Amino acid sequence: MQTVNRIDPLRDAVAALRADGAVALVPTMGALHEGHLTLVRAARRQAAHVVVSIFVNPRQFGPNEDLAAYPRQLAADSALLEAEGVSLLWAPEASAMYPAGYATNISVSGVSEGLCGANRPGHFDGVATVVCKLFNQVRPDLALFGEKDWQQLAVIRRMARDLDLVRPHVDRILGVPTVREADGLAMSSRNAYLTPAEREAAAALPRAMRAAIAAIAGGAAVEAALAGLEQALLGAGFASVDYAQLCDADSLAPLASRGTAPARLLVAARIGKARLIDNMAA
Ligand code: AMP
Repeated sequence: MQTVNRIDPLRDAVAALRADGAVALVPTMGALHEGHLTLVRAARRQAAHVVVSIFVNPRQFGPNEDLAAYPRQLAADSALLEAEGVSLLWAPEASAMYPAGYATNISVSGVSEGLCGANRPGHFDGVATVVCKLFNQVRPDLALFGEKDWQQLAVIRRMARDLDLVRPHVDRILGVPTVREADGLAMSSRNAYLTPAEREAAAALPRAMRAAIAAIAGGAAVEAALAGLEQALLGAGFASVDYAQLCDADSLAPLASRGTAPARLLVAARIGKARLIDNMAA
């Protein structure tokens, strides 16, 4: 595995890989866990070469968010990726990504606006901007993202279509199902913020979500099921619930009742120092 941290060597390294076969890109912010490695393994099944980026993107953190505290462990991450057969690690410094004078922003309206977009102003602009840059830098044949970040996946797909990134550079954007701990909690680099007691309490999130989904499927009113979910989380030790919404799975438009189109339950809630998100088919 080769590691590069400046744009020019990145372009040379990717050109050499591309001459040898298809290239898949897995963008991450590091602090890698089994969820990330599942994306890498899926990428390896799809392409001759996997490029992983590790970049804690300052533009997707709000002023009062956890940019400084976000876990950084490049040496350990690098060893994990090497063992997974990754061809190239792209680990730029912030100054390589956003040199002095950087002034361009990508903003995806509609699908970015509700849910996490409402709670974290500017977050999805930061995500869209950095992912667009990564696509242009690596020009992969396909890119893989986790369904754990369902709204992010929708924003990236919209951007790729709107900016004609889908062909020829990014042929496919693949979503990979959420990888969970044994008790159901979605794996996340931010789970490291939890104390042991908070970590145990956090398993209430997927449990309450499954209960709400079952209640709705059994005929309960969506509003009542979501209110029950919120109460269950607060009762289990969550400090607050940013949102708990049933949405159209593609447009992310909120649903007051479960129709026939695919629906998704999406939740963001705070416990200890962590803001946890999760989503499930409903
Ligand atoms: P992050 O490092 O948190 O920005 O995540 C990098 C990529 O890994 C994103 O596409 C995430 O959606 C994906 N990812 C993070 N956690 C999981 C998980 N538990 N299961 C599947 N994919 C995940």
